[in-house]
Amino acid sequence: MTTKKKQILCVGLVCLDVINVVDKFPVEDTDTRFITDDFESRDINISNIVWQQAGITPSACCIVNLSSGSRTVIVSDMNLCDVTSNDFRKIDLSLYQWIHWEGRNASEQVAMIQQVEQYNATVSAELRITTSVEIEKTREELYQLFGHGDFVFISKDVARHFGFNSASEAVKGLYNRVKPGAYLICAWAEQGADAMGPDGVFHSNAFPPEKLVDTLGAGDTFIAAVLFSLYNGKCIQESLIFGCQIAGRKCGIQGYDGIV
Ligand code: ADP
Repeated sequence: MTTKKKQILCVGLVCLDVINVVDKFPVEDTDTRFITDDFESRDINISNIVWQQAGITPSACCIVNLSSGSRTVIVSDMNLCDVTSNDFRKIDLSLYQWIHWEGRNASEQVAMIQQVEQYNATVSAELRITTSVEIEKTREELYQLFGHGDFVFISKDVARHFGFNSASEAVKGLYNRVKPGAYLICAWAEQGADAMGPDGVFHSNAFPPEKLVDTLGAGDTFIAAVLFSLYNGKCIQESLIFGCQIAGRKCGIQGYDGIV
């Protein structure tokens, strides 16, 4: 009789280590300099940056699974403070036509949006600033942002959190939360994106690339492209299509360089 070899039982914590091989170790501050250089090389004005005294630059290590499309993101968030409404007060609003908030410290962000509303009340219609917000994470605090912003973007995670299984259901079901006249927009990966506004509902199919390479950041690309299009005076239908085209193009390349 042969006895089966006994196995090893492992008791512990499963930890996913992502190892990068470098020929020299990054020196202090390299991360922030890398970020600012990156913005500047893309002609993004960073003169309004609020440098924080405490906390460390959050970083994320992302693993994109090409076969399933899944994305595993390992975040190291060292409690860097968010921009406050006091910081925002220092901004010369007259320089801007559109302000977009990525939902984070929502109560402070509502106070910032209110500053913009007060400013808007003092200027003529053509000088008014358009506002948009993104609610990506399923955090209760963020849901107060629904009622603010002329354009409200929600992720499919948020839509699912409220029990909706498609972008079309989500924009119709959640439209009563946005302020009168606002548009609610929801992207849904390979199903494209939907929007609802005072003039009805809108849809764009996705534009899948020939080969799916990297979907990480597709949502951000979609939002950036929709904003760019609206900012340039296009209507919501055209902007949804443009957003899906650019996001689809992004999915066909690694990273962002080369979308255009
Ligand atoms: P994220 O999960 O990155 O927040 P989504 O998955 O909702 O973003 O996708 C945003 C947009 O990107 C979609 O509306 C679609 O236009 C495009 N997109 C994402 N995944 C695909 C895909 N597999 N094929 C084609 N387009 C995609």
